[in-house]
Amino acid sequence: MSHFENSLAFAQGLDAKDPLKSFRDKFYFPTFHDKTVRYFTGNSLGLQPKSTKEYILEELDAWAEYGVEGHFLAKRPWFAYHENLTQKAANVVGALPVEVVVTHSLTTNLHLLMVSFYRPEINGKRTKILCEAKAFPSDQYALESQVKFHGLDLAEHLVEVAPREGEQLIREEDILAKIDELGDELAMVMIGGVNYYTGQLFDMEKITKAGHAVGAIVGFDLAHAAGNINLKLHDWGVDFAAWCGYKYLNSSPGGVSGMFVHERHAYNPELPRFAGWWGYDKETRFLMQPGFNPMKGAEGWQLSNAPILGMAAHLASLDIFEEAGMERIGEKRDLMTAYMEFVIDNISEKNKERCTFELITPRDKTKRGAQLSIMAKGQGKALFDALSAEGVVADWREPNVIRIAPAPLYNSYEDCYWFGQLLEKAIQ
Ligand SMILES: *Cc1c(COP(=O)(O)O)cnc(C)c1O
Repeated sequence: MSHFENSLAFAQGLDAKDPLKSFRDKFYFPTFHDKTVRYFTGNSLGLQPKSTKEYILEELDAWAEYGVEGHFLAKRPWFAYHENLTQKAANVVGALPVEVVVTHSLTTNLHLLMVSFYRPEINGKRTKILCEAKAFPSDQYALESQVKFHGLDLAEHLVEVAPREGEQLIREEDILAKIDELGDELAMVMIGGVNYYTGQLFDMEKITKAGHAVGAIVGFDLAHAAGNINLKLHDWGVDFAAWCGYKYLNSSPGGVSGMFVHERHAYNPELPRFAGWWGYDKETRFLMQPGFNPMKGAEGWQLSNAPILGMAAHLASLDIFEEAGMERIGEKRDLMTAYMEFVIDNISEKNKERCTFELITPRDKTKRGAQLSIMAKGQGKALFDALSAEGVVADWREPNVIRIAPAPLYNSYEDCYWFGQLLEKAIQ
């Protein structure tokens, strides 16, 4: 990207032309620091939209005014509150409304989905799960416990694809080859759409097709993809997916999660599942009859009535995504992350005597989202601490990796320029 310049004027020029520049004002930037905070951890906890308070207060007021009758009398009746989020969440992940529901938390949803979609054949051949090596810890535990839950041996049934010796990224060809190799032993593929550590984006369509070609179910954890990547879950034919609302989706700490079940499974009441009353057919739910009759689509996986305050926070954020549109968000993501990459390369080149920064994240923009994972060669945690002291909020992973994610809705090109300046200052 040789048309970039590492200067304040150039960064400000990009900001002036940014079609999403007004969205920055919709968010609160942290004020805890004596320096101006430069926030790059939207991949960990997105910033608070200024509108969130209003959405939550509306529900607190409804609770005060109506008590239990708020289920029916609130402006957005709590009885069906999740329906306010469905279409908007579906737009973010490229799905049909029937395929999406916002409910529970991410790891809970992964378990609920795997209970339905990881069905190893008892005494049969098709029993294995394929996943990525060094998946996010919660996913590792979830996968391991699912295998054990079926009484199967972990070492044999949980198959990991790892980067090759001396490499940081998993080669897609290795995933596809492993799927082929496992063939009719493969029950399920479950991978993070974007790897949380390296920022590598996997070709979910290709992996889904390869999995289906050998008769396996294919699901993705989209914690680092939802609100970041331009997803087309329906068209790609993905069987199931789940994501959290609090990373790129800015929906409050520990906020509610989304789940996706492809239309082809949506009308199948025979699918085994862990059931609860909120997944019961809406028309007859309150007859409270024995025997479970699930709602059609992803809604049929809901267990409990929705946590309205968390749902309200998510709705506030989804309304911002709706206004910005994933297409424009994706365009800015590519340009801003490329600019950040340029700035880091420039600082690295200028300071190569003392320290170089190697990008772990793919340089190909079709193989990544907003996140860049940078390996600081020749420096340890002291560099990161110096950066933090200057007001930069980033993420450190031992032994020497800094993760940053400029978020298209609220980060600016100027933020990226300042990141470079403060990084350079931290070296010296
Ligand atoms: C953030 C994240 C989680 C967190 O799970 P919770 O259930 O929301 O605590 C799980 N998996 C991945 C891949 C993540 O990035």
